[in-house]
Amino acid sequence: MENRIIFATGNEHKMVEIRAILADLGMRIESMREAGIDIEVVEDGTTFEENAIKKATGIAKYAKDAIVLADDSGLEIDYLNKEPGIYSARYAGVDTSYDIKNQMLLDRLDGVPDEKRTARFVCAIAAAFPDGSVEVVRGTMEGIIGHEISGENGFGYDPIFFLPEYGCTSAELTPEKKNELSHRGAGLCAMKKIMAEKMN
Ligand code: IMP
Repeated sequence: MENRIIFATGNEHKMVEIRAILADLGMRIESMREAGIDIEVVEDGTTFEENAIKKATGIAKYAKDAIVLADDSGLEIDYLNKEPGIYSARYAGVDTSYDIKNQMLLDRLDGVPDEKRTARFVCAIAAAFPDGSVEVVRGTMEGIIGHEISGENGFGYDPIFFLPEYGCTSAELTPEKKNELSHRGAGLCAMKKIMAEKMN
């Protein structure tokens, strides 16, 4: 198996997290841009897993002998029937800033007590291997939706995602701590084990 992983994302924030988490595999990790692949896979699945598999297998067609990893992630808010869910990136429009998206979610939860503000980040990671096999795993990070926007680290919905055990939002964690706790970290670690087994 070739010593190369292509991660199917155009999101540079995610690439930073992914490179840090997969570093000890000792494999070359390329973004789609670095791999010279410029195709858009339509994310029209109904679950995180379906979308991740669609992306990984869609891109594997152009990836020669590399392992293609793809993720699909988002925020589920229990009080909002798990919205924005698989539509997290598109919530209120892709071009709307996260300051606005986050404020809209805070407004929708106005007056809702903490015990009903439970939420989680979900991340499905799919791998398409050169032998044609496909694996998918899920990682989650549990928390609650805070009462205000707070923190400068991370991206997306991090400034409203409050972690009661740490007394701060995920945008107030160091990048190292967020990788240790995050849904993407959990999913990638599970996938790392599967990849290590396949390579032995
Ligand atoms: P994807 O790129 O289709 O997986 O969409 C992921 C979307 O979910 C992002 O654009 C964010 O809105 C949200 N999201 C996923 N992971 C995180 C995270 O770690 N912090 C904040 N928002 C996240």
